[in-house]
Amino acid sequence: KINIFWFRRDLRLDDNHGLFVALQSDLKVLPIFIFDEEILSKLPSKKDARVEFIHNSLEKLNESLKSIGKGIQYYHGNVLNIFKELVSKYKIEKVFTNEDYEPQAIARDYDIEKLLISQNIGFESFKDQVIFHKDEVLKADQSPYTIYTPYSKVWLENFKKEPPKNYPSEKHLKNLIDISPKNFGLKDFGFEETEIDFPSQKIDEKLIKDYDINRNDPFADKTSRLSIHLRFGTKSVRKIVEETKNLNEIFLKELIWREFFMQILYHFPKVVNQNFKPKYDGIKWLNNGEDLKKWCEGKTGFPIVDAGMRQLNETGFMHNRVRMIAASFLVKDLLIDWRIGEAYFAEKLLDYELSSNNGNWQWAAGTGCDAAPYFRIFNPTSQQEKFDKDFKYIKKWVPEFGTKDYPQPMIEHKFAREQTLEAYKLALDEK
Ligand code: FAD
Repeated sequence: KINIFWFRRDLRLDDNHGLFVALQSDLKVLPIFIFDEEILSKLPSKKDARVEFIHNSLEKLNESLKSIGKGIQYYHGNVLNIFKELVSKYKIEKVFTNEDYEPQAIARDYDIEKLLISQNIGFESFKDQVIFHKDEVLKADQSPYTIYTPYSKVWLENFKKEPPKNYPSEKHLKNLIDISPKNFGLKDFGFEETEIDFPSQKIDEKLIKDYDINRNDPFADKTSRLSIHLRFGTKSVRKIVEETKNLNEIFLKELIWREFFMQILYHFPKVVNQNFKPKYDGIKWLNNGEDLKKWCEGKTGFPIVDAGMRQLNETGFMHNRVRMIAASFLVKDLLIDWRIGEAYFAEKLLDYELSSNNGNWQWAAGTGCDAAPYFRIFNPTSQQEKFDKDFKYIKKWVPEFGTKDYPQPMIEHKFAREQTLEAYKLALDEK
């Protein structure tokens, strides 16, 4: 008999909770990863840097396991069918994995667990991608927080009371099964390499120390770039917190935002395609296709928006301040439904995370779970004056800025603002 450890968004051998527990048992552990056809078939392009990143990360893990005669076995296809194959091929005692809180993942895990239980095989999943999950940070009446500030206070209190411990899975790898897996390359399942460079997972202490001073300067580009590593678990969140918690409280608070939105998605899965606040359901979006195209291509004539969109299109990353400006512009200047912008970001961002993307888009639209009133509308010009006053970020990403080739502003901000206020007010009046 064997146990299985199923890697998903926890692509590392060290401090991996589920892997650590799996390796404690008397049985040998077969580590697997499944390239899920359900997810891959929905991607708009076969040149997807996220798929490449996953494949690269697995190859790195395999490289380090090779020297001790171990390896991770890859599969590709329908997840349920692959588990059916595994069940018929091996005598399995239990499948271990780490928890995933997205509604689709919860549904998938439910189906897998049902299959395994019908074969008398155990299925156990562990908290790994967050410090606190599900019902660990609740209000006194046991209901979930829907406002960040009180949530973050309790999060910090719990954290101080009970600092997270590590799970040194890396010390028990000898309990993996001895195999040299015959794995496939990226091209073998139809994907291609991209030109995108992936950020390092090293933590720059000085950068974190000065995080509160520099984090809003898109040209300086002094944020941690850990988002892709948090997304795919190539670096453990416990280690990130451990290494940074005494350097800068503002940085820790950003990590709390991530967990805040994760628990929102977990407790209110309707946010995937609905406004958190239903009072805005009646907004009459304009959703003009040509306007959307200009925004996507970074040709709105608002240079800070255009620079952000071009950074996103070229690199799969956009600085947080500019994400906020670009999102606000789409929703509140062009009156385009936040779900359309969210989908575009989901397609392009290397660090795409359903909970954070959705939470931040709803924040920008004013439909989400925050206290900011809808009539707070970013002015793209004053945002540029404040955060890129010397046009350095803009010139980096929009080389034709200042020449006749650069487009005129596609809309007058003052007019757009009033149009949006009217649309939001109408929706509220109808309720
Ligand atoms: P740092 O500034 O170094 O922050 C450290 C970590 O804190 C980040 O890696 C991230 O995990 C977390 N974090 C920081 N800001 C936020 C935030 N506002 N909300 C939630 N977590 C945060 N982040 C994603 O990870 N995936 C997304 O799909 C995503 N979509 C976004 C869409 C919009 C419209 C906006 C305004 C923000 C979005 N963010 C998203 C949040 C934020 O922009 C990125 O996390 C950040 O820019 C990533 O760069 P970094 O790792 O250098 O961040």
